[in-house]
Amino acid sequence: MTAGQGGAQTKLVLVVIDGLTPSMLEGALGTETAPTLSALAERGTLGRATTTFPSLTPVCLSSIATGAHPDVHEIPHLVWWHRGEQRLVEYGSSFGAARAAGLGRTLRDTLVGMNAEHLGKKAVTLFEALADAGYRTAAVNFTAYRGRTLHRPAVPLLDAVHGPERFYFYNLFRADRTGAPLSFRNRAGGSIDAYAAAVGRWLVTRDGFDFLLLYLSDYDYASHAAGPDEATEVLARCDAAVGGLVSAAGGLDEFLERYSVVVMSDHGQTAVHDVARLGDRFRHEPQTLVTASNRAAHVYRLGAEAPAPRALAERLDGEASVEVALFAEGDDVVARREGAELRIGVGGDGPVLDGDARVLDHPDAVARAVAAVRCPNAGEVVVSAAPGWEFEDLGRRHHLGGGSHGSLIEGDSMVPVLAVGLGGTVPSALVDVAPAILAHFGARVPEYAVERTA
Ligand SMILES: [Zn+2]
Repeated sequence: MTAGQGGAQTKLVLVVIDGLTPSMLEGALGTETAPTLSALAERGTLGRATTTFPSLTPVCLSSIATGAHPDVHEIPHLVWWHRGEQRLVEYGSSFGAARAAGLGRTLRDTLVGMNAEHLGKKAVTLFEALADAGYRTAAVNFTAYRGRTLHRPAVPLLDAVHGPERFYFYNLFRADRTGAPLSFRNRAGGSIDAYAAAVGRWLVTRDGFDFLLLYLSDYDYASHAAGPDEATEVLARCDAAVGGLVSAAGGLDEFLERYSVVVMSDHGQTAVHDVARLGDRFRHEPQTLVTASNRAAHVYRLGAEAPAPRALAERLDGEASVEVALFAEGDDVVARREGAELRIGVGGDGPVLDGDARVLDHPDAVARAVAAVRCPNAGEVVVSAAPGWEFEDLGRRHHLGGGSHGSLIEGDSMVPVLAVGLGGTVPSALVDVAPAILAHFGARVPEYAVERTA
């Protein structure tokens, strides 16, 4: 299945480096930190894209997989209130948060529940759409993996899940015995990405897929600890992981003869100087719950005694850690910032804005804000943190002195996209990546993505 000219191959490898900022990648190109990514950039196109909101990994990876914002894919945050089951869902903000939410429950929600139950039924993943079009899909460690092939776990206690045809997930699910080692004990040393890289090389050596999604998570982990644009060593390891794929094909020419390539991240990071416990702000409000982590939060009304959404948003006026509070009012979405408001109505040709436009003066912020509020699992108020601030999670953990993300601001919101063989263009929004890849394969683009760009 190759087009066979101009390097425009149909088979495609998508590499997602968690938390890599555009400035970090751009600064590394042409240096010894990133020889493979530099060589790819010389053959391809480098750009920047806007992610979704909240700009947190489960939300963003779901957007990469489905080409949808949370209004369609329904994953609202790292931590949220499940109205149907009347309980918290926590995807592992930190070990402390996982313990607070229940370790077994957190593991199950993260590894199985997010795909099997929480990911919206109207959303279509790349793995589903490409399998339906007859292509062989593969994924390594990517957490928004829903596909068409049933996989039984390699360990007891987990349910069978539907994933890509070739599905490798932290050694918990593995479609083939690759011999790749995995240890969670030496995460800072890069053991998770070393496993992903080894499986990736194994797959490329066998040319065992039409579409491969390789997910490298260690960069974000390091950047949280060291701060944005400091994790040079880990970027070098990510580059080496991509280099391993290239050499498994026999070199760059051979690799690009066989595959188109997209390398990108899921969100940015910004420095953390202050930490807030947002729940304290609502301690005396009845039937009100705050789910907070990193640089975003939801405020839920758990019953009729809770204040109305507008009143909850107004409680945040003067709260230094909060920049924007979003809520629905009638058919509109209202964004509130230091008492100023921007009202977003639905018009025939897109949103109708009324009020102070500076309230949402961030990349693609109107569309992202509306989609976050319209997510069926979102709180009645969705909160974007002020620059430099982070919210404590359920386990009271934070990244003070390091980096974080989750808000609407530019540093959290922009990601690098490097593409070779996508027709010389790069998508300018995270949600446009899946449609571009589906179009590249000639597969059906979901209706919600077609309508958004129409
Ligand atoms: Zn992160």
